[in-house]
Amino acid sequence: MKLHRSHIIHAAFILVGLIFLTRLFFIQVLSDEYRLAAEKNIIQPVVEYPYRGAIYDRHGDFLAYNVPIYDLMVIPKEVKHLDTLAFCQDFGISPQTFDEAFKKAKAYSYVKPSFFIKNLSQETWAEIQDHVAEYPGFFVQARTVRQYPTPMLANTLGYVGEISPQQLAKDTSHYYKQGDMIGISGLEKSYEKALRGERGIRYQVSNAQGIAQGSFKEGAFDRVSVPGEDLKTTIDTALQMYGEQLMENKLGSIVALVPQTGEILALVSSPSYNPNLLTEKDFSNHFVALEKDTLAPLFHRPIMAMYPPGSIFKLHQALIALQEKVVYKNTSYTCNKKLLKCHPHPSPLSLHQAIQHSCNPYFHHVFRNIVNQKVSNNSYKDTRLGLEKWCGYLKRFGLGTALGIDLPGEKGGCVPDAKFYDKRYGKGCWKASTIRSLDIGQGELLITPLQMANFAAIVANRGYYYTPHLVKQIGARSILPEEEDKHEVAIDRAHFELIANAMQGAVEGGTAWRAHIKGIAICAKTGTAENPHGADHSVGIAFAPSENPKIALAVYVENAGWGSRAAASIAGLLIEKYLQGTVSRAWLQNYVLKGDFFH
Ligand SMILES: [Zn+2]
Repeated sequence: MKLHRSHIIHAAFILVGLIFLTRLFFIQVLSDEYRLAAEKNIIQPVVEYPYRGAIYDRHGDFLAYNVPIYDLMVIPKEVKHLDTLAFCQDFGISPQTFDEAFKKAKAYSYVKPSFFIKNLSQETWAEIQDHVAEYPGFFVQARTVRQYPTPMLANTLGYVGEISPQQLAKDTSHYYKQGDMIGISGLEKSYEKALRGERGIRYQVSNAQGIAQGSFKEGAFDRVSVPGEDLKTTIDTALQMYGEQLMENKLGSIVALVPQTGEILALVSSPSYNPNLLTEKDFSNHFVALEKDTLAPLFHRPIMAMYPPGSIFKLHQALIALQEKVVYKNTSYTCNKKLLKCHPHPSPLSLHQAIQHSCNPYFHHVFRNIVNQKVSNNSYKDTRLGLEKWCGYLKRFGLGTALGIDLPGEKGGCVPDAKFYDKRYGKGCWKASTIRSLDIGQGELLITPLQMANFAAIVANRGYYYTPHLVKQIGARSILPEEEDKHEVAIDRAHFELIANAMQGAVEGGTAWRAHIKGIAICAKTGTAENPHGADHSVGIAFAPSENPKIALAVYVENAGWGSRAAASIAGLLIEKYLQGTVSRAWLQNYVLKGDFFH
């Protein structure tokens, strides 16, 4: 029994020993094989950047599209036995560049992929693609960058750039990752979510030599990228290009739109820049130079610059006075130059003639009649009440607040109200004579070129406007103006007819004569806005034809003097170009292109 028992114990020891041995065999031999296999096959996540939606003009021509570029990526942990010198030679970089890039990648993550050389050109990619496989830990990732077939409309299109740490920190959706591109300004920013699409990921298996072995688990964990949506804008490329050409060597803006819909046809900001400068290559160098430029080419004047409107504001005054029944069609005043300086024209004159000849003293009376309606015997109180009424009308014209264009950074201008003057002069310490610079659109009143063009659209429509906008289609979805985008200004249609008529008179025998084109009934009003910082600004608004108008616009040329010169000429040329496709008056075009309007 003892022997038997000892045998059993012995056998048990042997069994246990065998189990241990087997375990050891598995641990040392078989699992080593697994480990080696794992080491040989590397699973690499490859980001698939979505196609960024293209941007088209209203006729379906490209404004912005994409070209492919390639980034050399690195996963520091997987870099082994690297011959740095050979690598530098193959990829055409210096050892210092290599060291810096490798240090940066390691600092970001030892195990995650980082950019090593960004933005390889098509040629460089063709040269190096055979070498990449020789360097474990390195791989090439394809993505696209913007290209602009016509170098125009830079501030409206905006630019795309690498996401900043601040933007990353603010991203509550947690979509973005370091190194991602994002729309920074213009339409690229406004429509970022539609344009960008959704990033995809592909898990790729490579052997120790870096040679691709196919997808991991047959793509079971892959996520396909979703392309961004294309934008169809309201821009008319031919008109935009012509507008930019006419504004060369000048400072200022052109805004042209379709009055009945608020669709922007052209949005010129001058000076501007070639949008191709701010695609990825040399972005920072170009950006710094543009930012330092004292003429501010990155400042989007049509929506951000706030100016005194000058004499075009006489039209606002006339409409308010007519509606308030404090001025009538036949109200007549003499051109009393003691009240305000003026230029030679017939006198006394009617409202129609006062608009046609832009008579300053006439509009001194008009504004007085609006703000002093004798509601109170106290002239200070009376002006206060009148001014508040006046402000109410201006707000309905879309002044004093941003109109809501689909671009970032739009400014609202300034409509000075009673509170504004209380702050400046003290409550009860100002009356009509204190604020008389408002008579003819000077003083504290500030309007953006977009608001001026929108006003031209209001007169063209005889009393309403649709919120100005630049995008009419996202992907396959049409963006139709909604009821809340329609704004009625609460002034009778008949008053607008009178104003439109007088504007036509200004073109056919008044201050806007340079805008005249045979066969087209153009309505326009010019202005010369006094500028406390230098030479006067040249201003003009127009629409055409008078009945069923197709285009409304505003032209603002800084420091260019008389509105009847630069602004009226540019307005006339643009209207002819848009309605007839050609420009018949070469003399006027030369006058604008060669004219020394920039002081
Ligand atoms: Zn006058």
